[in-house]
Amino acid sequence: MARQRLARKGRLADISKTNTGVQIVAETFQSKLLILGAGPAGYTAAIYAARAGLSPLLVAGMQPGGQLTITTDVENYPGFAEAVQGPWLMDQMAAQATHCGTKVVQDVITSIDLSRRPFRAVGDSGDVYVADALVIATGAQARWLGIPGEKELGGFGVSACATCDGFFYRGKDVAVIGGGNSATEEALYLSNLARHVTLIHRRDSLRSEKILQQRLFAKPNVSIMWNTLTEEVLADTSGRMPVARGLALRDRLTGEARELKVDGVFVAIGHSPATALFQGQIAMDAEFYIETTPGSTRTSIPGVFAAGDVQDKIYRQAVTAAGTGCMAALEAEKYLAALEAGHAAAA
Ligand SMILES: Cc1cc2nc3c(=O)[nH]c(=O)nc-3n(C[C@H](O)[C@H](O)[C@H](O)COP(=O)(O)OP(=O)(O)OC[C@H]3O[C@@H](n4cnc5c(N)ncnc54)[C@H](O)[C@@H]3O)c2cc1C
Repeated sequence: MARQRLARKGRLADISKTNTGVQIVAETFQSKLLILGAGPAGYTAAIYAARAGLSPLLVAGMQPGGQLTITTDVENYPGFAEAVQGPWLMDQMAAQATHCGTKVVQDVITSIDLSRRPFRAVGDSGDVYVADALVIATGAQARWLGIPGEKELGGFGVSACATCDGFFYRGKDVAVIGGGNSATEEALYLSNLARHVTLIHRRDSLRSEKILQQRLFAKPNVSIMWNTLTEEVLADTSGRMPVARGLALRDRLTGEARELKVDGVFVAIGHSPATALFQGQIAMDAEFYIETTPGSTRTSIPGVFAAGDVQDKIYRQAVTAAGTGCMAALEAEKYLAALEAGHAAAA
């Protein structure tokens, strides 16, 4: 009876006993629309889906709020005349999604079956999430060097996004670390804002496209330090908060140590989309970004939509993630309506 009552509310509880005698309650949550990810894409999809009456369920993952929770000032998200703090902005999105009627669950999806509908995802908690449509908004993570000072000074002089944070370094000296397309593009972008850009690369040539290299070499305010390893981000601790003041470097060939004084450090060694869960089940490109039909968020699987950085390796901005989150919800709504009307293939 209790089980039936729970089922009617969209959830089933399975009670099992471990050999230690502890009871584990695994629940099954059923919803029309399941959203994976609590960044700008996931929350925006949730807001639109909830307002369309789909009662979406959103699983937040290991980083509720997404990438903006690890930054400080956000100055380019429309609607705010003054800079806002990344974590605050994401709290607002979470509150808006909940207010509109989204159920937000703190869990991390560890496996998923997209081979048949309803789609079935299993969380780290053991709970099971079943839905007729799915929005994947699991984002991407910037790759970091893993050196001392890098994490501690994130948002305080260390960034992984020139488009996001370059503006704060107008007329200042910055360093970009990396040697591929990302690093070359970041250095080019920053050269229009900063007084001087030093590109630091551990090898003796760049891996980026030749046309980008030519543009970079032609910039009078860019210099390149070849064969150079970055060992530490140095902090200025004289103020209220520690901020980056420079880099500890080592020449890879001679072993000689030196310091470079800079105001900002941009780590540009690429991004990794959070798509391991879906590999082998859904079409992805060579870098494991989910492929979507141009101009839409549809994936290779009907009923599965992808939004935000998980399918975008070009723009990677909160506003573009939110935009595609909106598209995903609207497309999922249309898909579910067609499914209910009995012609899902047409959606
Ligand atoms: C340091 C930094 C500063 C930035 N500054 C700006 C800025 O000023 N302006 C701007 O527009 N953009 C900025 N960006 C970029 C912006 O943060 C991203 O473009 C945006 O967050 C992408 O949103 P998203 O929703 O696609 O994914 P994300 O924000 O990456 O969120 C992904 C979500 O998926 C969840 N997830 C992942 N795996 C699972 C799983 N297995 N199960 C369940 N959930 C899962 C995570 O927990 C997370 O909640 C910055 C990025 C960084 C790193």
